[in-house]
Amino acid sequence: MVATTEEVLELHGRVRECTACPLHLTRTQAVPGYGPVTARVMAVGEAPGENEDREGKPFVGAAGRLLTSLLESAGLDRRDIYITNIVKCRPPRNRDPEPLEVDACSHFLDEQIELLQPDVILLLGRHALARLLPGAGGISRLHGERLRHNDRVFVPLYHPAAALYNGGLKDTLETDMRRVSGYLADAEAARARRAGGASASELRKVAAAAGGDQMDLF
Ligand code: URA
Repeated sequence: MVATTEEVLELHGRVRECTACPLHLTRTQAVPGYGPVTARVMAVGEAPGENEDREGKPFVGAAGRLLTSLLESAGLDRRDIYITNIVKCRPPRNRDPEPLEVDACSHFLDEQIELLQPDVILLLGRHALARLLPGAGGISRLHGERLRHNDRVFVPLYHPAAALYNGGLKDTLETDMRRVSGYLADAEAARARRAGGASASELRKVAAAAGGDQMDLF
């Protein structure tokens, strides 16, 4: 069952009021997450940076712009994706989040995944990979792969910020992101099968294979 907007907003409200770790003392505001409750893709980054801390939304700076264009180049629209972070408050001077901060915060991410039930979860960078798939391996080996864990599909990707400093990674990210749209189509078809129906794209394929004009099914 897909979450209601009220449930997600209630969770966002708790994130904004959270004082469970020292990051609340230095934040301008917490950054719970952003995107439609019906999103089939969730993207998980590391922690808000300066722009995100100011605006209260994830991935709104240079790394966010690159993320938007990477998604577009793979035929995905950022407005369809729910974007969040492992840690919801900015670490001072953008340092890596401390284990204590990750531990204090990550129940919010668990709740977000439980509420939205995304078909595909993009793990942006090594912190997201280590938190959601501990022990799976490193990002340099796993980037672009589809990994199934606890009935969910995860795709580790290099963090877009890394590609801002290392141009070579941008091509890798583009190639990996293109694979994501295929994973999403597979996951959508699997979900439709579980629900006892067929996906729109499957039905279109059947109609085309039957040789008839493609019907507008929905
Ligand atoms: N980097 C992240 O990991 N998250 C953001 O929200 C912005 C930059």
